[in-house]
Amino acid sequence: MHDIIERLGNLVRADVRARCHAQGVRPVQFEALNYLSQCNRYSDTPQAVAEYLGLTKGTVSQTLKVLEEKSLLLKEQDSNDKRVVHLKPTARGLQLVGQVTPSEYVASGIENLPVKQQQETVMVLQRLLRAIQKVNGLKTFAPCHTCRFNQRRENGHFCELTQEPLSEPDIRLLCREHQYPLRTETK
Ligand code: SF4
Repeated sequence: MHDIIERLGNLVRADVRARCHAQGVRPVQFEALNYLSQCNRYSDTPQAVAEYLGLTKGTVSQTLKVLEEKSLLLKEQDSNDKRVVHLKPTARGLQLVGQVTPSEYVASGIENLPVKQQQETVMVLQRLLRAIQKVNGLKTFAPCHTCRFNQRRENGHFCELTQEPLSEPDIRLLCREHQYPLRTETK
């Protein structure tokens, strides 16, 4: 199992590295930008980037500085808490993410499988990721609509944790506070 995952990871990394090189960014800079293009407003901070990528604060700080200098990222002060900074990819940053992902290797490999096997493969990989996160007590960083705090109300979605309404686009984003429903955690 370890060897298969490592081989897959190596293939994807090699593809991403080559595309990053063509775009003039380092893979770690792309990874931070890619995460920030998918996360919600509670998760777009330097600390969340460090947690998601498993990097030190120093490395993340350097990475973000370069992205800002390249006009791929903007820093915005939180309107309620001046100590909090939100990191927003610029239009150019989002364009770069679209040019690097999805990995050509992954996309072509998946497309080559029958549709049923494509769905099964995604489900198996999701289960494996979730099991690894659960057993090791790691943050899930999963889409908001699968979170136990996401409440469906008459007028839309609501986060029970932050006590704030959530829009339709919000519920598709990744969140650092995400937790799976307790009943599915026991499966
Ligand atoms: S419902 Fe969960 S995933 Fe969504 S914003 Fe709230 S804590 Fe985050």
